[in-house]
Formats: sequence, C-alpha cells, structure tokens
Amino acid sequence: IKRIGVLTSGGDAPGMNAAIRATVRAGFYYNLEMYGIYRGYEGMIGNEIKKLETKHIYHVLERGGTFLKSARSEEFRTAEGRKKAYENLTKHGIDALVIIGGDGSLTGAHLFYNEYGIPSIGIPGTIDNDLAGTDLTIGFDTACNTAIQAIDKIRDTATSHDRLFFVEVMGRDAGFIAINAGIGSAAAATLIPEKKMPIERLVERLKARTAQMKQSNIVIVAEGGKSGGAVEIADKIKKQLPYYDIKVTILGHLQRGGAPSALDRVLASKLGVAAVEGLIQGKYDVMAGIINNKIVYTPIAKAIVGHKDVDEDDFRVAKILST
Ligand code: ATP
Repeated sequence: IKRIGVLTSGGDAPGMNAAIRATVRAGFYYNLEMYGIYRGYEGMIGNEIKKLETKHIYHVLERGGTFLKSARSEEFRTAEGRKKAYENLTKHGIDALVIIGGDGSLTGAHLFYNEYGIPSIGIPGTIDNDLAGTDLTIGFDTACNTAIQAIDKIRDTATSHDRLFFVEVMGRDAGFIAINAGIGSAAAATLIPEKKMPIERLVERLKARTAQMKQSNIVIVAEGGKSGGAVEIADKIKKQLPYYDIKVTILGHLQRGGAPSALDRVLASKLGVAAVEGLIQGKYDVMAGIINNKIVYTPIAKAIVGHKDVDEDDFRVAKILST
C-alpha cells in the first residue's frame, strides 16, 4: 500500500475531523501518501480528490463537522457510478481506502470491495451508535451531551410553567441517544423504537406523576419510534391530559454539530490510527472498532448486519428512574 484515500460519508458526526486527522497523521507516520476524497462517494465519482498535506489537518481535531464534507450519493448505488469511482481512484494511484461513516456508507464500502478488491477499512462515524463491532461510534457521545444540555434548558422553562414537554431526539431507527438523554436528564419517560410503549401506559405514568406533584415533565421521543415522532405522540395524548400545557421541541440537526467531546476525540484518534495499521497488516473489508477498550476489527458484513439495539439493562435503568 502506498496511497490511501480517506472520505467521510452519510450523515456527519462530531469527531469525523478528528478521525480524518488521525488517519492522515498515521499515514504520514508510516510514510504513505494520503489523499482526501471530498463529499463522500459523490466526490469519488466526480473526481473531487486532492493530495493531503500536514497543513490540511492543522487545527481540525477540535472542530465539529468534516472538512472533507459529506454527502449521500445515489449514483454510487449503481454499478456505473461505482465504476466511475474506481476509475478516478486508479487515475490518482490510490490503492487503499478509509471510509468514515454509518451503516449505509459501510454497506457501500463492502460492495465496492467485493467488486474491485481495493483494500479498504471502515471507521464507525455516526451519532446513531447503531453499528455492531464497536461499543461506541464516533459522534454519539457528543450528540448525547448536546441533547442533554438542550434538555436542561427546556427543563428550566418547563418548570417555570409546570409544562409537559415532548422532546424529539435523533437516532434514526435506534434509541441510543434517546435512552441516554432520558437517563441523563431525568425524563418522565423515554420512547424508543426498540420497545413499544402503549400510549395508555404513558398517560397513566404522567397522571401518576401529576398526582405526586411533580412540577415539570419531560418525555424523550426517539425520531424513529413506531408510534410516531414527538408531534404525533403529543397530539395523541393531548385530549387525555387536558389540564397540561403541552409543548413539543424537536432538537434536530443541532445534535450533529459542535466541537467533539473528549471521548469522541480520543475514540476517533484511536480508530484513525487503527484503520491505517489495519490496512498495513492486510486487514481488508473490516471495520475498526473498540470493544472493552481494545481495538477490534470486525468484517464489515457483520458490523452492518448485526444492527445493535439499546441494551436491556439501560432500558431497565431508565424505567426504574422514571417511575
Ligand atoms: P448515518 O446513518 O449516520 O446518516 P450512513 O452512512 O448510514 O450514515 P446513508 O445515507 O445510509 O448514511 O449512506 C451513505 C451513502 O452510502 C449513500 O448515500 C450511498 O452513496 C452509500 N450506500 C448506502 N447503501 C448503499 C448500498 N446498498 N450500495 C451502495 N452504496 C450504498
């Protein structure tokens, strides 16, 4: 391996910059040439590829977002699109890839590896934390911190007016951000896609809390819930709790931004180095992750199929603390 191309793809996540920087630094350490592929697979197809130097990675570790930009690419889902992408890599002499992204991006990487055999390795970069093969994904910790800080502020106004707030957090079809935000902000209830909570049970719980003179109530709703998002749930519940002033806040893209937390910076840095070292050791079509504080390389096929769900114990803790 002589030239590694690095890209960020799919939804952006805080800490992606730190992962790029660590990948590039590790590449230089091992005397490799490093290339930045801009806008994910879209830029691979459009030949937005540039040789990276130390100046490109100066002061990026602490910044949110991704300086390589990220994109979703419909064209990469087609065989012709992937052919164009491969031809561009060949033009630049890129003989290995590091793909930083979520399950979709890694699915694309797996397919591309099977078609063209270019040595490649994935790094889990997504706020959703839904990939198997790693305890944590890059961006998840920062997103949880951002959500909790926002909920603290909502709590202040909720308490001042004795309001019931439904706060929707991100996570696609996984409830990791929701369950952590719920535990970390003393929510009255947390609705996650992995567990169905009948509306009647939620109403009962909120009524019981009113009886105990709880002053404010925050219900966390994961965006991908089966009973709908925060707006839908609030609508359904309104008639049954007429004495409550109900408000809805959707945290949305706020959760993707901001400087990465210490944990995300360290995780991203370790995984960047692990990706380069994995490629040098001939570990291809795998994802570098951390399990029990040790670097683990999991076949991408396993990391994407084994969609991780919220831990039963975490759910139990959230339940105990909200009743
Ligand atoms: P996040 O879940 O954090 O948003 P992600 O990586 O899962 O990140 P996706 O939009 O699912 O985000 O995927 C990113 C890109 O990966 C897609 O736009 C597409 O270019 C590529 N991709 C996803 N699935 C496939 C597939 N089955 N075949 C080829 N390419 C794919």
